[in-house]
Amino acid sequence: MIAVIGGGVAGLTAAIRLAEQGKAVHLFEAAPELGGRTRSFFDKTTGQYCDNGPHLMIGAYSATRRLLEDCHAAQNVHWQEHLNLPLWDAERGHFQLRTVPWLPFPLALMLGLIRLPAHQHASALALIKLSRRTSLTSGQTVKEWLEPLNIPPLLQQDMLEPLCLGTMNEYPDTAPAASFRYVLDESFSSHKSACLGWFRLPLSEALIEPLRIKAGKLGVSIHVGNRIRHTQTSASGIQLNAGDMKFQHLIVTTPIWASGQITGLGMQQAEVETRPITNLHLWYDEPVNLGSPSGQPLLGGIGTLGQWFFDISSQMDEHSDLQHIAIVISADPLDCRDSGWMDVVTRELAEISGQPHALHPVHRRVIQERRATVLARSRTHDSARHPAWLIDASEWPQPGELPATIEAAVRRGEQAARMCIMSQK
Ligand SMILES: Cc1cc2nc3c(=O)[nH]c(=O)nc-3n(C[C@H](O)[C@H](O)[C@H](O)COP(=O)(O)OP(=O)(O)OC[C@H]3O[C@@H](n4cnc5c(N)ncnc54)[C@H](O)[C@@H]3O)c2cc1C
Repeated sequence: MIAVIGGGVAGLTAAIRLAEQGKAVHLFEAAPELGGRTRSFFDKTTGQYCDNGPHLMIGAYSATRRLLEDCHAAQNVHWQEHLNLPLWDAERGHFQLRTVPWLPFPLALMLGLIRLPAHQHASALALIKLSRRTSLTSGQTVKEWLEPLNIPPLLQQDMLEPLCLGTMNEYPDTAPAASFRYVLDESFSSHKSACLGWFRLPLSEALIEPLRIKAGKLGVSIHVGNRIRHTQTSASGIQLNAGDMKFQHLIVTTPIWASGQITGLGMQQAEVETRPITNLHLWYDEPVNLGSPSGQPLLGGIGTLGQWFFDISSQMDEHSDLQHIAIVISADPLDCRDSGWMDVVTRELAEISGQPHALHPVHRRVIQERRATVLARSRTHDSARHPAWLIDASEWPQPGELPATIEAAVRRGEQAARMCIMSQK
């Protein structure tokens, strides 16, 4: 028997992949609901489900796509056919980074960049230099890596910084170049990899429920509201504080600091670096249009405090009198302390949507995930110390690996399942 601790994407994936191989699996989740950082809340005022934060994906999320297909949930994601990222800034107004469908990569992206207002050929040339620049030194940040290339500030501002923030949840001056290069290589290898995808339903319904159903059909026993605090080993197996069951293997997918407490081997909270993400959900009783010429239900703000603006009602095709907009601040520099930030981002929304008058939401809700993602940093502890029965699949990307994302969680879950199966052979 195998115990999986943590019922987020990584834990559910590990449980499914193990059960597919005929393993007996018990999954333990501390919260009353599955989902972890991909979860939805019921908002009493609007009567709608609302995600902790809108989750954006890129076509390169191959493991996530495969998992969704295996769980009959592929239709819950809308994928663009070609990259089309609406952008806005105060000077240039609305514009879009669109790849050119009839050209192969990276030409399709280069022409897309040339077409951006004020970019011209300098951006395309910089992209060529960037794609050729493979060498980087250990510990280099994205800013240090890009410096010798004399990347035009507009390219940094319109593409590289939003990509760095969106995928790594930190700014180029601290984000490790090795992981950013990995993101660039993965996302700009083909049209399919570069396009954006978003969920058509709240996360709990679109992602977590199909995974739960699949796990249940495969015979996984799911125990919610069951916090694992410690483990005890004996000759007959590993025992958890929850019940008398004995397990041969333990896969831990909780946040890394919880994993340290459970196993007595891992990290303390102070030893990992995390960044917050702040989400402002707004509901309006009048139409609010993000103004994208091609009708995309999202927009990246350039030079704005709100970095991403999502038209949730359009994404989810919600039939409601209320229009639901979510504004996201990644790597939140204000940490929500300054009370004026909500007025700033709602004013930005009014400007973006071209409303002549200030917009007045009928309801708003702030969800700040203080430790939204674990940053890609070198490990200071030695995972080789782990006993063979313990597989630590907690989020802690290394520089050069995919940063903390849904895709990374799926891959961690799958890798943990593979390791477990291998060690039982
Ligand atoms: C606001 C926000 C926006 C994001 N946006 C994006 C995005 O746009 N695109 C993207 O790809 N990724 C995004 N991410 C990142 C993504 O959500 C996470 O990387 C991913 O969900 C992590 O999954 P996980 O299963 O590893 O961890 P978690 O989801 O944290 O799951 C761990 C689970 O373990 C449980 N647990 C903890 N302690 C115990 C215990 N002692 N016993 C039992 N259970 C325990 C927790 O309750 C939790 O359910 C975002 C994250 C946040 C917070």
